Amino acid sequence: MRFPSFALSLLAATLLLTASAISQGGDFVAKRCFQLILSGNTDAVQVQAAYARPWPYFAPKRELGTRGRIDLLGADGRLVYRVPVELSHFNLHRDQRKGQVLVFGDHVHVPDIELPVKIPDLGSRVVSLRLDLREGLRTRTLCQMQMTDLRRLVQQTTFAAALAAPKVKTIMNNGPVANRYDIVILGDAYQAKEEARFYQDIDKWKKDLFGREPFKSYQKFFNIHSVFRASAESGADQPDKTPPIVKNTAYDATYHYGKTARCLYIRNTKLATQDAALAPDVEGRVVVFVNDSRYGGCAGTFAVSYNGSSGPRVQSHEFGHSFGRLADEYSYGRSGTYSGREPRQANITADSTGKTKWPLWIGYKGVGLFQGGGYYKAGIWRPKSNCLMRSLGAPLCEVCVEQLCKQCYSAVKAIEHPQPNKALLQIMQPNLVQLSFSDLVPGGGEIEWWVGSTLVQKGGTSFAFASAAFSPGYHTVRVVNKDKSAFVRSDPKGLLSSDHFWVIQVKAASSTPIGTLPKGMAKREGNTRQDPVFHNSPGRVQYLYLRSLLPYGPGNVTLQGLRLRPDAGMACSTWKADCEIRMSSLGVPVDSPSAADFAKNHGSDLRVVFKRKTLVWPAVPKASATPHPFLQQIKFDAPQRFSGKDLCIDLLGFEKNIAQHAWYADAVKRIDHGSKSIYGKACPIQASYDASGYYVGGKLITQGYTRQAASTTSFALAWIGLQKTQFTLPGTSCSVLTPPVFYYGRPQRMTGNNGFAKFDWGVVPLWLRHQKIYSQMLGLDPSYNSFGLRLTPAVEIRIGADAEMHSVYGFASGSQSFDPSKDKPQQLERGTAAIFELF
Ligand SMILES: [Zn+2]
Ligand SMILES: [Zn+2]
Repeated sequence: MRFPSFALSLLAATLLLTASAISQGGDFVAKRCFQLILSGNTDAVQVQAAYARPWPYFAPKRELGTRGRIDLLGADGRLVYRVPVELSHFNLHRDQRKGQVLVFGDHVHVPDIELPVKIPDLGSRVVSLRLDLREGLRTRTLCQMQMTDLRRLVQQTTFAAALAAPKVKTIMNNGPVANRYDIVILGDAYQAKEEARFYQDIDKWKKDLFGREPFKSYQKFFNIHSVFRASAESGADQPDKTPPIVKNTAYDATYHYGKTARCLYIRNTKLATQDAALAPDVEGRVVVFVNDSRYGGCAGTFAVSYNGSSGPRVQSHEFGHSFGRLADEYSYGRSGTYSGREPRQANITADSTGKTKWPLWIGYKGVGLFQGGGYYKAGIWRPKSNCLMRSLGAPLCEVCVEQLCKQCYSAVKAIEHPQPNKALLQIMQPNLVQLSFSDLVPGGGEIEWWVGSTLVQKGGTSFAFASAAFSPGYHTVRVVNKDKSAFVRSDPKGLLSSDHFWVIQVKAASSTPIGTLPKGMAKREGNTRQDPVFHNSPGRVQYLYLRSLLPYGPGNVTLQGLRLRPDAGMACSTWKADCEIRMSSLGVPVDSPSAADFAKNHGSDLRVVFKRKTLVWPAVPKASATPHPFLQQIKFDAPQRFSGKDLCIDLLGFEKNIAQHAWYADAVKRIDHGSKSIYGKACPIQASYDASGYYVGGKLITQGYTRQAASTTSFALAWIGLQKTQFTLPGTSCSVLTPPVFYYGRPQRMTGNNGFAKFDWGVVPLWLRHQKIYSQMLGLDPSYNSFGLRLTPAVEIRIGADAEMHSVYGFASGSQSFDPSKDKPQQLERGTAAIFELF
């Protein structure tokens, strides 16, 4: 089912709000269910026993042969819920009116057929149930019952068996019974001392069944439970022997059932039914092993076999019938040519062209059309010359495997453990909610995430619904998980496709943002990735902002948290990472941050506002040219009061398993803060001589490097000019590269081995804004030459607007060895910082 419109989403939400148990599309979850044991024939059916089951109930998607249904009706006769029921057993029973038991090879269709069916327990909303048989256009009611009577029956359904304490075990546990096909195995004619033999026999069958495809690949779809009831004697009755052999066993197994020698069946089906109900759950036909070495087996309500060498294969064949609804492919049992309508089973056809059932397989690995099957020699065709459904020595044919593979989804949904495990979620913008599930498809399914009618993500068992990207109101998120198994070539009913949905009510944010940082950049897409924490984790980034760029002015402000947005050019899926956030006022002037020590940039009011914990980073559905919304909300552990000083926001990312994620915090780079270029030659010519300068915070800084001897005291002078020149100083080869207009007031002492000096020219006068200026530095070092003179190259600086923000960062970049709380920063970005929303 698709959700093509918003209206449908609203409808779904309304349904969920008013009726918590029912959901759209027949996908049903109730807290409890009833297991009914139906018995009777096509004229009438009665509920023979009923068991309350405490676990959730999922209505299976079934490919039904003979269609029936149980309608659960409300007080006004209104349909509350419908459960499909396979009634073919009862149809076959029609032949019983001839007064004899029909035996076709391995099968006996016993007169007292019993059919287990599960229905959800919907409490007082349902007052009666009705079982209908649909034959073409005709609908016949086979059984009707008040829920009060059913509840009384549940109370009366005594577990007589429990008193005798049969031993219940789960032999193979692959998951919750509500989402597994639960096989139940009983044993008859095993004495207490032969209990180990019972488990050996189960193990032999388990190996046989799960050694075959598709069971091999889909083993995790099944659970196996056993119920062991000790018998007084070993071996089954053999009334066809002279003298007849009579044994005292739990379920009264006998050969020669229905006067067919090899038909081994049980007569105390009532006790067997009760015992089977002790298992955590029962799906399909209960398997019975009879501890006897004489070859035999028969299947009706129970699949019974001896425990000799062919026993496991007999049971695997029987499982093909009960689980796969497959037909026998052998051609004995009935005479003449088949002339009925197309059989309901997948593996036989009355169509001699084969087009009705398996056209896509013809010609593949010997699949074609072979006359003989379904107990007839003629008029019916099977897919392959041999198959387990024809003789016990053969493997299952491709057509049978396809059908069995589809049936694997009759009781199992490939979407398990949906999280959150609620159908209706409420979320405040711009929070995100992480939706996820476990994928049961062997090798992984083809996964699609939809919001309404938009495909938002392909692949991935989790999806982060970022509410900021959606309007307030109801949204339906639906995940579809499709099994693309090579076993299946035709799946018109979409049985291999599982889905799950959540309805999410998005509410508008209650905490209105204080503003966007840096101020005035709200709508600006930086397209400048600022990424270490989020991209090259583990990493750490400090963002330094001058007070004039804070959105809250000079006074005090209380901050609840901050929000980040990804770079608009990015799209990526979700991930999780450990993060910590520290904040303080700036401990250094904004124009001279420490690129060597994170701690130095913090003021004395440093505090951890978000203690290290795991953050889910939302998926970015698609790249865009305009800014993304603020998809990541980080609420501080407690509200934080800040003064209107320069601010340092410090993000630490600890995740070591994520090297690369395309979730860059959106950043702005103030490219209008000026530019610089170096020109002219140093004197003497040394590559290491350098000049630079920058304009930040309204102030101009220039700096230069000249080599000096470590032991000497040396000084530097600097000047600013308004044009370029090249004036050679007499008696030297050194050039003055700009004629001075301003001198720096007093010589600076050079520091370090390279003779570094820095000149803070202070606030640049307004008339110099947007002009080009030039600067050079002169080093005086008497130990160097007779003049003691050295000159840097010059720097051309274009004065722009202010750019009072920086980022200082360090990251692992693949080595995974960076420690955000200990290691030093590696880089300083001038004029660049992430865009935050403060709230
Ligand atoms: Zn069979
Ligand atoms: Zn077959």
